[in-house]
Amino acid sequence: MTMEERYLRLEEAIRSYNPGANFALIRSAYEFAANAHNGQLRKDGSPYVTHPLSVALIVAEELHLDSESIVAALLHDTIEDTGTSHEEVAKLFSPTVADLVEGVSKLNRVHFTSKAQEQMENLRKMLMAMSKDVRVMLVKIADRLHNMRTMEYQTPAKQKQKSFETMEIYAPIAHRLGMQRMKWELEDLSLKYLDPVGYQEITDALDAKEAEYKDFMEQINAQIMERVGESGIQDATVYGRLKHPYSIYRKMYAQSKSLNEIFDLIAFRVIVDSVADCYNVLGIVHDLYKPILGRFKDYIGTPKPNMYQSLHTTVMGVSGIPFEVQIRTHEMHEIAEYGIAAHWKYKQNGQGGGDENSYEWVRRLLENQEGADAEDFIHSLKVDMFADEVFVFTPMGDVINLPAGATPIDYAYSIHSAVGNHMVGAKVNGRIVQYDYQLRNGDVVEVLTSQSARGPSRDWIKIARSSEARSKIRQWFKRERRDENIAAGRASFESELKRSGVTIKELTAEENLPAMLKKLSYNTLDDMYAAIGYGGVTALKVVGRLREDIQRIIQRRQAENAPSAAEQPKVEQPKPEPVRRKAVQGIVVEGMNNCLVKFAKCCTPVPGDEVVGFITRGNGISVHRCDCPNAAPERRKEEEKGRWLRVSWAEQTEEAYRTTLQVTAKDRMGLIVDVSTILSSTKTRVCSLNARSTPDGFGLIELEVEVPGSAQLQTVIRRLEQISGVMRVTRPAG
Ligand code: MN
Repeated sequence: MTMEERYLRLEEAIRSYNPGANFALIRSAYEFAANAHNGQLRKDGSPYVTHPLSVALIVAEELHLDSESIVAALLHDTIEDTGTSHEEVAKLFSPTVADLVEGVSKLNRVHFTSKAQEQMENLRKMLMAMSKDVRVMLVKIADRLHNMRTMEYQTPAKQKQKSFETMEIYAPIAHRLGMQRMKWELEDLSLKYLDPVGYQEITDALDAKEAEYKDFMEQINAQIMERVGESGIQDATVYGRLKHPYSIYRKMYAQSKSLNEIFDLIAFRVIVDSVADCYNVLGIVHDLYKPILGRFKDYIGTPKPNMYQSLHTTVMGVSGIPFEVQIRTHEMHEIAEYGIAAHWKYKQNGQGGGDENSYEWVRRLLENQEGADAEDFIHSLKVDMFADEVFVFTPMGDVINLPAGATPIDYAYSIHSAVGNHMVGAKVNGRIVQYDYQLRNGDVVEVLTSQSARGPSRDWIKIARSSEARSKIRQWFKRERRDENIAAGRASFESELKRSGVTIKELTAEENLPAMLKKLSYNTLDDMYAAIGYGGVTALKVVGRLREDIQRIIQRRQAENAPSAAEQPKVEQPKPEPVRRKAVQGIVVEGMNNCLVKFAKCCTPVPGDEVVGFITRGNGISVHRCDCPNAAPERRKEEEKGRWLRVSWAEQTEEAYRTTLQVTAKDRMGLIVDVSTILSSTKTRVCSLNARSTPDGFGLIELEVEVPGSAQLQTVIRRLEQISGVMRVTRPAG
């Protein structure tokens, strides 16, 4: 068949149900696709355009969709595989067509690996949500069907992978859309590649059964036809068939039965004009054959969630062979076979065709039919289906389901609160994004974390969309404040205690602690510190109330120490001289003396930070903070593994180390002055200070300061954080 003949066959198929279709547009789409794919070949050696042409034919013949869908089917691979852009398609055809084509392309970019079962439903929902317009999914399913029909030309690995996807994702979606016929074909084709032996066994056995049952089926057919004719029912169609391979395969495995033990291999269909006739035919069938108890189902009275309607009954034939009979009207039949696509056609004007606004109709239908039974289905089909959810990928390919409008903050906290609390940045599809970036379906989200992260800022509560994230952030603040209170309380208690000559260790020794806490009415020592830190009680007052205990400890110590006078003068025992190691700029490199050391510019470590060294090429050893992304073990190149080595701070370090701080604040007058005041009051030397405002009203200040070590640096950070308007102070790294 020439290309032109194939194209004319498509036109013919469209004309049969939609004589008013826009054939000029369809022809130009075909020519555009042929031109765009010119030179590309399919795996079977045919020109590539045979594929979009075949997909368009499926969309026309099997789904009877509108002109825009046909055009989109013809163009569906142009954006993905050729240099065509959305704008070009929009200009040449229509913005809607361009959206449809882009929609299909987007679905192509979602890749699947073998996944846990619970992930599948999320993946299906994600695809549906990404489709937005149901036609995108219909074209995509037609695309997949044609690919599955021509799968024999692919490599075995690709066959398995595509078949798995089809079985797990696209066949269930076809089912949900009520498209029984496509669902069956997709399932059977997938089975063929997923279990070639099992598939072959079943199809061989079915072929054998078909021959064996041929006479039986013809006989039943004739009997039903005769009685239906006698009862005056007009236009009835009866036909028998063997069930499709995958449904038998599934039954065999689920019930571990052989093909011969499968109860209902044969199904008859009786298709009539009216619902009344359906029930009449049911009576006839039950009169002709013995019905099997408990096998009658009335899906006309109670449609399935995907709108499937039929009467089902299983009866015993004359020779003891059971068979199922499905009775339905022509319209129900179309809907059973073609699902949403059939609905579309029927409600337009009863005979299909013409109306190009049919898509609007689907939307209305779906919204109007929110009856009890179909509700589930309707919900899953609305154009804005899952409008309240967004589906994104983890870097590992798992799908995470978040509320619409969710941000990287929501994502991070949905993974784990520790991930959220240590977040220092986020990437979407490989690019750094702001925390308030709104995630979109199909985004791949990555959270950058650091052990030295300062934790969430209060603004995050406003940015986060999920109550989960918000409550986790609140929890952090509650807990974090307690930690701060405990630390502060402990510090002032300790310094107050110093004057009394007793150490905190002595006072809170096991034998004293319970009585002491009881006296002060605290449950734990931390509760006591927290109360001091919070200001509920002063350290002075607490120490005062412990006067007796302190006295007792001092007396006991004197009693213990009295006999050995040698130990009495407990004045500053000189410590043994620490083993002096060669240190350069305060850094000790294991196994190396006097090597050139420099501090990495990306993370500017100071004494007290955990550090690691990297032997550069000809530039000595570069010292990074252990939490610097550039030093992260997973980022280290395989061939450079040997260049990373352990380094530590020497006993004696230099007087000052240069490091960088970043202050994020709500921009306001006087901010810089306040920052400078803190720096001078903490005696911190400033090497450079750069400030800039962002358009959204934030001030970013980058400071280069000199500090002796991390203790001093932490003090500076805490003081800076107390400045009004300052949201976070970070040490940049990476
Ligand atoms: Mn394709």
